[in-house]
Amino acid sequence: MATFDAVLRGALPAPFASRGGDSFDTSLWSATAIAPQRYEPLRGDAHTQVAIVGAGYTGLATAIALADAGIAATVLDAVEPGFGASGRNGGQVIPLVKYDPDQMIARYGQALAEGILQMLEASSDSVFALTERFDIACEATRAGWIQAAHNEAAVPGIRGRYEQWQARGANVAWLDAAQLAKTIGTDRYVGGWIHRGAGTVQPLSYARGLAQAAVSLGVAVHGASLVTRMTREADGWTLHTAQGRLRADQVVLAGNGYTTDLWPGLAQTIVPLYSMQIATGPLPAALNDEILPGMQCVSETRRVVRYFRKDRAGRFVIGSRGPFTPQPGAAAGQALVDSTRKLYPQLKDVPFEYRWAGRVAVTPDAMPHLHRLAPGVWAALGCNGRGVAMSTLMGRVLAAACTGDRSHAPQYPDSDLTRIPFHALHRLGVAAAVTWFRLLDRFA
Ligand SMILES: Cc1cc2nc3c(=O)[nH]c(=O)nc-3n(C[C@H](O)[C@H](O)[C@H](O)COP(=O)(O)OP(=O)(O)OC[C@H]3O[C@@H](n4cnc5c(N)ncnc54)[C@H](O)[C@@H]3O)c2cc1C
Repeated sequence: MATFDAVLRGALPAPFASRGGDSFDTSLWSATAIAPQRYEPLRGDAHTQVAIVGAGYTGLATAIALADAGIAATVLDAVEPGFGASGRNGGQVIPLVKYDPDQMIARYGQALAEGILQMLEASSDSVFALTERFDIACEATRAGWIQAAHNEAAVPGIRGRYEQWQARGANVAWLDAAQLAKTIGTDRYVGGWIHRGAGTVQPLSYARGLAQAAVSLGVAVHGASLVTRMTREADGWTLHTAQGRLRADQVVLAGNGYTTDLWPGLAQTIVPLYSMQIATGPLPAALNDEILPGMQCVSETRRVVRYFRKDRAGRFVIGSRGPFTPQPGAAAGQALVDSTRKLYPQLKDVPFEYRWAGRVAVTPDAMPHLHRLAPGVWAALGCNGRGVAMSTLMGRVLAAACTGDRSHAPQYPDSDLTRIPFHALHRLGVAAAVTWFRLLDRFA
């Protein structure tokens, strides 16, 4: 279904449209995902206990957790489930964010940090528990995530990370250069570690599977339903779409990098960066045996990180920071192909058949933010490229917030809504920073 028939032939809603088009339909994940269901737009007047804006992992996991608690939920998406980052990402299910246990304790204090760390530790499990519970056909694989050092200077930093997570009892191991070469299939890395609690999914299939699971629990899911306005009522809120109105006691905003101007200032709390990916077709058998034979996923230590994996059919997928556009052009794609062939010279004659991009919501403190925007209005956004596991578990936090009892949910702190200064200039700042980081990586 070409991006929900380009939102029922009205093309993409204004906040997501761009002159160059959108690469959702050209992604590997669109080409290989489980079939999409048709989620009809909201029409006329409806009522629900909790209205959720955004059908990515955050919104859908919230809906599932609400349904489990016996609370009626309705999910509205501007396009369709998985249209945002959830249908475009690398599918790496990693139970980590930027900060390690020591840094977390320094930032938040022992008690709060402990709650966040426990949430992180449970985050990958929460993904695999859902794929198992609902039998989601999303190639769920738990072979581990490797962080690989691209030079000697990067080794002490990740060695420290590994030691801290090992001290907390995580299922981790240190890998020397020879072990990395055998596991990854390239000799470009000098040291690294593996977290065996991590894994991979076909990200769009996972999102579509969550939507089907939510529906099976009685959740109403609507596609082609951009929420353009929300108005406060005496006993809740009304969400307005082109063809309908949804009355709700409470609202959860789960637009992440695709957040619109629905709530004043919310979109200005994050910078939406584009990450771009390319993928080959199924690798020839010899290369498939040589490159990531154990199906781990990998991120490297460069400032402009590359992350890569294979899918079950042996297609090699790699991503990195992209240009500021939802439709990365041939030149940007070729630059990533060239850098990939330096990493894996054996891919020199293998064509890359897919190229796409999606918005990563970046926060200034590199942590996901949970906001109570008003009584009965919640938002969670800003997974900083580590949202497959974390957004899924954030759904349980949001659902618990809606019930008014967060004591049994993972403990995650609320943040104040703080607009990023000079937010409107972020495109310029991002472009400059990425060019600078690429330069530094070249000389590192
Ligand atoms: C290219 C890329 C690679 C990534 N790789 C990884 C990875 O390997 N591992 C990892 O852990 N994380 C990764 N991430 C991050 C991860 O994908 C996200 O953190 C996660 O998917 C966020 O889910 P979400 O539900 O919060 O938001 P999204 O999936 O972005 O969903 C937001 C939804 O909200 C809808 N929406 C917004 N505004 C409105 C409105 N007004 N009305 C109706 N609907 C609206 C949009 O249509 C969209 O479907 C990556 C992200 C990208 C873009």
